[in-house]
Amino acid sequence: MSSNILNNLNPGIENLHPYEPGRSIDEVVAEFGHHEVVKLASNENPLGASPKALSILAELESDLHLYPDGNGTKLKKEIANHENVALDNIIIGNGSNEILELAARAFLNSNTSSIASKHAFAVYKIVTQSSGASLIEVPTCNWTHDLKSFENYIESDTRVIFIANPNNPTGTYNNHEAVHSLLKKVPSSVLVVLDCAYFEYVTKDDYVRPLELLNEFDNLLVTKTFSKIHGLASIRVGYGIANPSLIEVLNRIRQPFNVNSVAQAMACIAINDHEHIHQSVELNSQQYEFLYNKLLALGLDCIPSVGNFITFKGNFVGKEMFNNLMKKGVIVRSVDLYDMKDFIRVTIGTEAENLKFISALEELL
Ligand SMILES: *Cc1c(COP(=O)(O)O)cnc(C)c1O
Repeated sequence: MSSNILNNLNPGIENLHPYEPGRSIDEVVAEFGHHEVVKLASNENPLGASPKALSILAELESDLHLYPDGNGTKLKKEIANHENVALDNIIIGNGSNEILELAARAFLNSNTSSIASKHAFAVYKIVTQSSGASLIEVPTCNWTHDLKSFENYIESDTRVIFIANPNNPTGTYNNHEAVHSLLKKVPSSVLVVLDCAYFEYVTKDDYVRPLELLNEFDNLLVTKTFSKIHGLASIRVGYGIANPSLIEVLNRIRQPFNVNSVAQAMACIAINDHEHIHQSVELNSQQYEFLYNKLLALGLDCIPSVGNFITFKGNFVGKEMFNNLMKKGVIVRSVDLYDMKDFIRVTIGTEAENLKFISALEELL
């Protein structure tokens, strides 16, 4: 581009790259001509959307000309019920990513910084730098957020700390105690965002208990999503829970109709579809064991995960393995972007999907 418009770009955006989503099945079919492509690239639910939520889709047609409920009252009631909090503790977003962005816009600017772990979810850097702030990265310990060290990285201009628990792409988690001790050390003027996108998948007894922390700390924002366990990644809905004054601030800056009516209605049903949630967790636990052991048996180095994906490395370059698997009709994720060039992240699929992935991988090793 020859004009000068890009010279006026807000600082911080210059060295960002557009978020690289997983390759879509259609793209890969078009490029390689496979008939059956397995997508294990974006930590989606292999069982699909909540069937109960899907069953109401047709009923929603008649209201599509109307703006959605800008307050999201019905959905917030369901969430309040599910989380055992009040309505004014909740904000809903266009995916939980929107909540992360609102937090950044409310508290970050070019005179401030945020903190996240190295190898943490990519969106923290995007929302930080697009707010003009700088991101301070804390080295991991065994691929896990080293929460004990976080306090040493807090600067006088630090306004937000992002914690992915469990983290994507490593799959590691921090226990309740570790998060609690960090919160006790963080100044109450610093916002701590606890991103629990994979909350429902975690079966560890010592995993974080968000409600207890929310009751103790006013500078805590917990986020969850309908994209993963509920299988509704496409409709874009997530939520944040925090004390009412924090929620009120975030509400001031969100778009008036940020969550569409289809998303609101389907999420209302999905959150109560206990059967689908249960089946999804069961399948994930069972297939995690299967996949993890298979990968180990193939001599690969796996990071133990509590999420619905496994990140592993072997004697290969991640990006090359990603391309070679794609040629065989299996889409996984290379994690170059996370400074993990030797690694591949694979979403735990159905048994058939996992078998297809394992046999393609075996042929390539
Ligand atoms: C998938 C994911 C999200 C969810 O994003 P949505 O915008 O709700 O789809 C948030 N955080 C992490 C760490 C994730 O992996």
